[in-house]
This record gives sequence, C-alpha cells and structure tokens, in this order.
Amino acid sequence: MLKHFLTITIFAFIACNTFAQPLERSKVENQYKWNLAEIYPTTDAWKADMDMMNSQVEKLADFKGKLGESAKSLYEALKLGNDLTKTLYKAWTYASNLSNEDLNIAKNQAMIQQMSALGTKFSETSAFMEPEILQIPKEKIDQFFKEEPGLKEFDMYINNIIRMRAHTLSAAEEKILASFNLIAGNQDDVYGIFNNAEKPAPKVTLSDGKEVELTPASYTRYRTLPNREDREKVMSTFFNSYGIFKNTLGANLAGKVKKDWVFAKDRKYSSSLEASLDRDNIPVSVYSTLIEQVNKNLPTLYRFLDLKKRMLGVDSLHYYDLYVPLVAKVDMSFTIEQGQKTLLNALKPLGKEYVATLQKAFNDRWIDYMPTVGKRSGAYSTGAAYDVHPYILMNWTDDYESVSTLAHELGHTMHSYFSNKNQPFSKSDYATFVAEIASTVNETLLNDYMVKNAKTDEEKLYLLGSYLDLLRTTIFRQTSFAEFELDIHKKVEEGKPITGDDMCKIYSDIVDKYYGNEDGHCVVDPYIQYEWAYIPHFLGYTYYVFQYSTSLIYATAFAEKIVNEGQPAVDKYYNILKGGGSKYAVDLIKDAGLDPLSPEPTELAMQKMNKVMDQMEEILNKIDK
Ligand SMILES: [Zn+2]
Repeated sequence: MLKHFLTITIFAFIACNTFAQPLERSKVENQYKWNLAEIYPTTDAWKADMDMMNSQVEKLADFKGKLGESAKSLYEALKLGNDLTKTLYKAWTYASNLSNEDLNIAKNQAMIQQMSALGTKFSETSAFMEPEILQIPKEKIDQFFKEEPGLKEFDMYINNIIRMRAHTLSAAEEKILASFNLIAGNQDDVYGIFNNAEKPAPKVTLSDGKEVELTPASYTRYRTLPNREDREKVMSTFFNSYGIFKNTLGANLAGKVKKDWVFAKDRKYSSSLEASLDRDNIPVSVYSTLIEQVNKNLPTLYRFLDLKKRMLGVDSLHYYDLYVPLVAKVDMSFTIEQGQKTLLNALKPLGKEYVATLQKAFNDRWIDYMPTVGKRSGAYSTGAAYDVHPYILMNWTDDYESVSTLAHELGHTMHSYFSNKNQPFSKSDYATFVAEIASTVNETLLNDYMVKNAKTDEEKLYLLGSYLDLLRTTIFRQTSFAEFELDIHKKVEEGKPITGDDMCKIYSDIVDKYYGNEDGHCVVDPYIQYEWAYIPHFLGYTYYVFQYSTSLIYATAFAEKIVNEGQPAVDKYYNILKGGGSKYAVDLIKDAGLDPLSPEPTELAMQKMNKVMDQMEEILNKIDK
C-alpha cells in the first residue's frame, strides 16, 4: 500500500459495465443505498481528518536524510507514512463515493479537489523515501530488521525497493531517463488521435438499405449482425480501412516497441517482458507457460469453432462469424431481493463464512444499487476504507447482467474484506495479477448455478453459450494478442527491422494457427492480417493483456477445484482472499493450490470448457431428434 504514495489520484476503482436511468436519489429506500456514515458520521468529521492530515504530512519531511540513521528512525518514518496513507484512503473513499452519488453536486466535487491537492502534497513530501531506502546497504537493512521487530510490517515494501536496486541507475542517469518521459507516450497519442478522430470512417450499405459508418465503437456492434453478408461486409471494409495505413501504423507501433526496449535495456533488463513483469515480481516463465499451454490446447478452440459452425448451420465458418452470439438472448428478470437470494445460493460452494459475509454486505448496506439522477454509471468495488468495510457502486436494471455484475463486484469486495481483516494495512492491497480471480470465480459459480436451475433448454443454451464466448474471447483471443506482442518485441530486441508488412505477416500466422485456418475449422480471410492495427492496447500498455487470460484461466481452474474437491479446495482458496499483498502474486496463487508455472490451471480451464460443450451438444442432440 505504501508503494501507492504516488498514485493516490489514479485510485483503485474497478470499473465495469455502463448504464444509467433517471430516478431521484431521495425517492430510493435506504436499504438500496450504501451507508457512508460508517466512514464518517458527517462531512465535518471528514473535514477534521483532512485538517489533521494536512499538518501531519509536514512531519514526514522531518525524516528526510535520516532513514538510514537508525532502525528506529526508519520504522517511525514508515509508520507515519503508513498511518497517513490509511487515513488518506479512508477520506478518499468517503469523498469519491459521496461525489459519485450525484456528479452534479459542486460541493462534493470540491471535496475531490481538496483530496487531490492533499494527495499531491503527500506524494511530494514523501518522494524522498524510496530513493533514500535504496541507498541503505543490504547488511544495514538486515541489521535494522533485527533491532526493530516493528519493521516486519513493512518488509514487503522494503524488499520491493531493494529488489529494484539492480535496475536503478546513478542519480544523473536517472535524471536523464526521467526526462524522456516527456516523449514516452507519443506513439499512443498519435494512435489515439488517428484512430478516434482523423482516420476516415468507412461506410457500408447493409441488407436493409441502411448506410452505416464504421468507427471502432460502431464496428463492435455491427460485427454481431445476424445477416451473414452484412457482417462479412462490415469486417472486411473495417479491417481493409486499416490496411491502407498499415505502414504508417506499423512504424508508429514499432516506435513504441523500440521505446519499451530502450527503457528496459537502460535499466539492465534482458527484455521488455522481463522489465514489465518485474513490477509485480512475476517470472517471465509465467508468460511463456501461458502461451505454451494455450497452444497445446488449441484443439479445444477447434471444437468450439466446429460447434459454432454446427449451430450457425454454415458450410464453412469464417472469422466474421465469430461475434454472432451462439444462442439468441433469453431475457431473465430479477428484483434486487431475487438477485441477492440467487447469489447466496450460487456462492454456497465457497463456504459458510463467505455466505455469511455476503449476507452482512446486503444487510449492513455496503452496496448502492439504484441508477439515480447524476449517479456515476457502471459498477465498482472499493476496499480502501481499511477499518470500515468495502463498498460497491452499481446501477441495477432488473436483468441477469445486474446479477452477474453484482456477483463480480462482490468478488472484489470479499477479496478486500478478507485481506483487510487478516493483513496489516501495509500488506492488504493485492496485485493486479490476482485482482480479477475472486470476481471471476463468483461469476463462474453463478453461471453454474443458473445452468443447473434453468427453466428451459433455451435458457440453458443461452447461459452456456455466452459463457463459452467469454472463454473464447478472453483465454484464446487475449493469448493470441499476448503472442503477437511478444513476437514484435523479440524482433526489435534482436535488432531486426520491423514494418507494418512484417506485423501483418506475424499477426496472420498467429490467427491462422489459433483458428485452424488450414484444417478448415475457421476461414481466416486475408484482410484479418490488419486486425492488429485496430487494437489500441498494443500502444497504451506493455505486456498487460495477458493478465486477462491468466485471470480467467486461474479463476476457472479454482472454480473447478472448488466444485470437484469441496471444502479442502475452498480452504486453500482462502489463501488468496486473506493473503492481500503479504506475498508476491505467484506465491499466493501457489498457496491457494495452483501452480501458474505448471500445465494444471490451463488443463482445468479446458476441462471446464469441454464440459460446457458436452452439455450444449447434449441439448442440441436432443432438439435435433
Ligand atoms: Zn473486476
């Protein structure tokens, strides 16, 4: 948590879907609104904490130049920083939740501004700490730990800084490197302006005579059109419109990849991948294991493609057919109470303590359900009010999506709740690499429960079908992106030139392999080679998308273990929920019973995917008879 001294403004909200509806907040019954009075009874109480922090922050500056003096001095500085961060997070949770209730209230927005100002002051005042700790010799740090047992609370924080020692340069070199940050985001800016504004949006005329414009946003809608010629036209026109600019976009992306490599190399990493993963201390082999295992399990994707072909009733499946939903949407309706009851039943496999905590979240008003005038759209969970409890904001619309959104956010909430309860504040925050496991385990168990209790075959097929689509797009598609990202970085790191044409070749080789083009599982038409140019993540992030795949693989595998093995698997799973940031992410996952470096997680996820396909085929065979 201390490492977040600098990131107070981009605070950990996990945002999801978007919808909104007008209803006056004052008309909503209390039981559907969160209770922020548990954080502060009044805004005056919040104000008092703000005043206290504003004066306390200055005391941090007194430790400047003294961290290496003694164990006591180091401990007291860290303790003060820790306590201030904890209060800062609590005050932030109050102000941001309050302002999200209605974004039009100016006095709440003013609270956010005061928070940001305090956050900046805090970052500036505490900026000396990490570089100073870095300067303390290893032997001295070891000695400090012996002298001051209280330092144990901050061992993860200190060890993380020490871990970076091998990749930290002299002060003068660091200064030069930092100056390049001014231009480091250039390729992403160029792409953003081009893709969202200046790129001409092609038009197509659909079978109903309507002419539509294809922007990145409208494309995702039109690629799902039920008429086959329409979606073929949409996809070919859209990707060809990127093909026109392939060399410009290729040069731009190559520039970004070169930038990654320059920074990694200057920091003495052997690859951009190693540099990226080192932030969370994730071994490079986690990445190679993912790619290797997903490749080994491509036959499961081929089976999915063949099933899709059968369900669509086409002779040969094309890439443009992939986004048509397998089964037409079945509308299911849920009141908030019905949704709560469904979740209490669906999440029973996670044990009594889990269900009791869910009940507590419902009873004690941790959740703000209703869409109201001016309320922030979408959904998030925040566990940053460490001494209180997590809070969820969502916009309930009486449909199944509302129930699964709540299941997802409750996963984050349970993870935060158990971490906060079992770890000191300094070790309660968990890494991105494990952040989506609990949320996805919940969604998986909800889907299982809904399938088991479906009233009709159509409902069952819809639930199974949308779940399969999720596995296809998240496990396979995101890993194919991860493979592309690795290949283009490798080229640059080997000192080889790379152009837009090279990227097209690399991309189409990967897609051909994943979708079984040669064996007729899915025809990958030539214009698919330009798809990479449409994916903004390659410019905005470095080695990030693979975590979408790993999260879903681990979560699916945990859900399988929980369903197959029962209580012993649940007990182990709690090591993630309760572990917070007390260990590195990979170790927490190992403690919970899965080794990310072994084939097991992917095998279990594929076992699940095949079971879902078995269930679907069984229903289809029955209908066909
Ligand atoms: Zn999430």
